[in-house]
Amino acid sequence: MSPQPTTAPLVVVSGPSGVGKSTVVGRALALEPRIWLSVSATTREPRVGEQDGREYYFVSDERFDELVATGGLLEWASYAGNRYGTPRGPVDEHREAGTPVLLEIEVQGARQIRRSVPGALLVFLEPPTWDVLESRLTGRGTEEPDVVSRRLQAARDELAAAPEFDAVLVNADVQECAEALLALVSDPPGH
Ligand code: 5GP
Repeated sequence: MSPQPTTAPLVVVSGPSGVGKSTVVGRALALEPRIWLSVSATTREPRVGEQDGREYYFVSDERFDELVATGGLLEWASYAGNRYGTPRGPVDEHREAGTPVLLEIEVQGARQIRRSVPGALLVFLEPPTWDVLESRLTGRGTEEPDVVSRRLQAARDELAAAPEFDAVLVNADVQECAEALLALVSDPPGH
């Protein structure tokens, strides 16, 4: 049997909106700049301060349809009224070049990666308590109330998915959580 070509790890960080995924991932990347964070495509409007090509590729519905139809997305999901997806090409290129890749995505997308990318490591971030999550979601001040309530409902559903993941980290302290994530990237459980 010929040996499997080796590619760098693909690590998925998921968990409910408001749990602090971006903050933890940002800290992990600051500690370990060798990791590449995938930039997703989304149909949602940019928030103040967000830049096309940095936080997201902000695309039209038509462009998103096209990406789906041509197999350009490794996974995608509808979330709170918008669509989000991971462009496939850059993920493959970085992994083939030996760079570990991190995806910061919601739970439906993580499930697709579980099915389509054998060997991917799925990490779930949990809030220390439901109250902490609720106050982060309501206090962010970037969304309209109906968007916040949709996100709270989605968060309830998403929290129930924790047991499907390879590892669960409680985000009580950003630095500790980022360090625990990096430890998983360099020494994945059961891999
Ligand atoms: P936000 O609108 O707050 O930036 O993101 C909403 C949710 O979509 C977050 O849970 C975020 O992690 C998730 N998300 C961002 N990019 C992707 C993606 O490419 N695929 C999937 N499935 N979820 C994503």
